Amino acid sequence: MFTDSHCHLDFPELAEQLPDILYRMKVAQVSRALCVCVQLEDFHQVLSLAESYENLWASVGVHPDYENITEPTVEKLLALAKHPKVIAIGETGLDYFRLKGNLDWQRERFRVHLQAASICKKPVIVHTRMAGDHTLEILAQENVSSCGGVIHCFTETLDFARKALNLGMYLSFSGIISFKNAASLREVAKFAPIDRILIETDSPYLAPVPYRGKTNEPSFVVHVAKVIAQEKGISAEEVGVQTTRNFDQLFGLHT
Ligand SMILES: [Zn+2]
Ligand SMILES: [Zn+2]
Repeated sequence: MFTDSHCHLDFPELAEQLPDILYRMKVAQVSRALCVCVQLEDFHQVLSLAESYENLWASVGVHPDYENITEPTVEKLLALAKHPKVIAIGETGLDYFRLKGNLDWQRERFRVHLQAASICKKPVIVHTRMAGDHTLEILAQENVSSCGGVIHCFTETLDFARKALNLGMYLSFSGIISFKNAASLREVAKFAPIDRILIETDSPYLAPVPYRGKTNEPSFVVHVAKVIAQEKGISAEEVGVQTTRNFDQLFGLHT
């Protein structure tokens, strides 16, 4: 019923307890998850999760915070994205919070991902932090509407949400939306059309209330759905079903 659109099951804190995590997903009716790649060095581990389990998928990309790693090229991304279980390019984007100084390389890396995505027609998973204007500008310049995509772990403003939706992007909400100080984020969830929303954990980070501070895992995505359900005046199950449908729509899965 629920789909976790963004998690990092290859990270050691989760990989070590994978059978338990998959079991707890099943119990919580979180039937599927997308395992997101953050550097090419890890891609084979991410892909092997997707190859081993029918209900897991993979992406290929290099996170904007990673330095001194293999820099992706359009050709390399396209080659790795050929696999049928690789359904997205990313995570990619801009992060002006973690890194400072001349970040031309970060913007260039972002463009490389967008170019690959528009050639292979697989959607982009976009990470943006303190870089909203540049993110929107580059998404528009690189014609993101040709491949589609999602603003993952959404923490931006209502104005940003409006502009991203106009570019055809989906918005994915994480456990942050359950935090006490996240009232403005809940406003965005209330505003966003139900057919353009995804839910995610970004596990192992950012566990939702009531697990805040603990190691996050896909089964907790239900608590993200509950918060959105409250804002929309519908049930958590309806949010689960609709966001699962949106996930299929965006990533071209027709099950
Ligand atoms: Zn991210
Ligand atoms: Zn992530």
